[in-house]
Amino acid sequence: MKDVLRLRSSRATPILAGNLLRSLTELIDAVPGGINLGQGVCDLDPPTPLVAGAVAALQGGDRQVYTPFAGLPGLRAAIAQKLRRDNGLEIEADGVVVCPGASGGLFATLLALFDPGDRILLFEPFYSYHRTQLLLAGLVPVPVPLSGPDFAFDEAAFARALAQKARGLILNTPANPSGKVFSADELAAIARRLEGTELVVLTDEVYEYLVYDGRRHVAPATVEGLAERAVTISSFSKTYSITGWRIGYVAGPKDLVDAVGRVADQAWVCSSRPAQRGVERALHELPASFYTDLRVGYEARRDRFCAALADAGFRFQRPEGAYYVLADYRAVLGDLEPHPAALELISRVRINAVPGHVFHAEPAGVRTLRFHFAVGDAVLDEACARLRTLAR
Ligand code: GLN
Repeated sequence: MKDVLRLRSSRATPILAGNLLRSLTELIDAVPGGINLGQGVCDLDPPTPLVAGAVAALQGGDRQVYTPFAGLPGLRAAIAQKLRRDNGLEIEADGVVVCPGASGGLFATLLALFDPGDRILLFEPFYSYHRTQLLLAGLVPVPVPLSGPDFAFDEAAFARALAQKARGLILNTPANPSGKVFSADELAAIARRLEGTELVVLTDEVYEYLVYDGRRHVAPATVEGLAERAVTISSFSKTYSITGWRIGYVAGPKDLVDAVGRVADQAWVCSSRPAQRGVERALHELPASFYTDLRVGYEARRDRFCAALADAGFRFQRPEGAYYVLADYRAVLGDLEPHPAALELISRVRINAVPGHVFHAEPAGVRTLRFHFAVGDAVLDEACARLRTLAR
């Protein structure tokens, strides 16, 4: 008999080689005094009402059974209200489905909307999980390069990719790993190019509150020409520093969201109930200043971290949003490939970063590392001091 337990699906095979974004976290966590600036775990204190809401739900304030597959009605209503207040989107509670993070939301949406073999565009450098989710769903990723060191939207490249008859586009703004924030003009240009196509835009807006230098986050679903084709996906992982809680959502037309919810039901039945309760309370109780303070705090971290990276000799585009810096390390670590460069950085200063080739379709020639700066002040100061010792 064949060794049946050694067989793997063709969908899973591409991801079985490993995931550096995670495995280097395990490596750095085992290094005494190691600092993880690789996997964006977002190690900050969550807001008080959020924790209080979850604790109350666990301590007799709620039942402990499944929630409806689309999420607790109160949370769906609170998300709809937030989408109106902060994002300018007119969506009712029945246009929201709660999912285990934006990743869960994206995966359920891919399965609900597309057929195996469908081509899906994504801007490159891309968040590696976007590409691997497409592969797992049997879809075909079509990378559309952003151009130049400032990751500009390249309309000609977009038009060429569109000619390949794609069914969907993943639009991540603010973007991981580039820190790019798509402007209203760029989104309008995308909308113009999509006119007459049947392409669906799936957004990933998990860094929506982290936009710097006076920029504004524009939800793609508010842009004329995108509104009727956009599915809004986001999460509370980054906004409330709860990456381990897994609460995100998909929002859009009621029918579509219902289909996503039915897929989600079969996959994981519902998202964690106490975590939903915590997020619901946070959405109700946190004042507008919470979100401003979050942005201001991250902008200050960005500035401090970028100053240290520049002093060390890294070359990079200052992120416009999100909490990553994608940096060319050649002047600091030499012309190594990204994985050896990450190991070299760990051995020299006990700091982990993500090898940049995981964000590209063609790894050859990539010479970047992705750092995140979602850590507390003391850790950030220590990381900056260590990085500065690398200066030649
Ligand atoms: N979004 C975070 C990152 O890009 C975390 C991803 C993850 O742990 N899978 O690092």
